[in-house]
Amino acid sequence: MPGAPVQPDGEGRPSLELRAAAACALADALRARARRALDIASDLRRERTERWLARYGRAIGGAVFVSRCAWCRRVREGQGDRWLAVAPPAMPAIDVQFTHGICPVCAAGLDAPEG
Ligand SMILES: [Zn+2]
Repeated sequence: MPGAPVQPDGEGRPSLELRAAAACALADALRARARRALDIASDLRRERTERWLARYGRAIGGAVFVSRCAWCRRVREGQGDRWLAVAPPAMPAIDVQFTHGICPVCAAGLDAPEG
């Protein structure tokens, strides 16, 4: 109990109350460290997502659009001609619209003469 007098037990060890208080303080410190670790992980995930969207997404009217090849799932880099096989990161709380297109590789395959 906080504020209670602390008496050593019969064997000279810290009292049960003192040991319980120390255990609670340790648990609080561990909880705080775990929260900080989760915050850091969340920041890193958000930064990674923002970098990914800055490279592959296009912001249009407050939404972010990412073009993905409907055949091979490659993702178009911005508005450029490069389509890359990259996996989108998890994007919690970000509104991303995937639009379907066709990359040059798949278009060439579709355009190739049959036989
Ligand atoms: Zn493709």
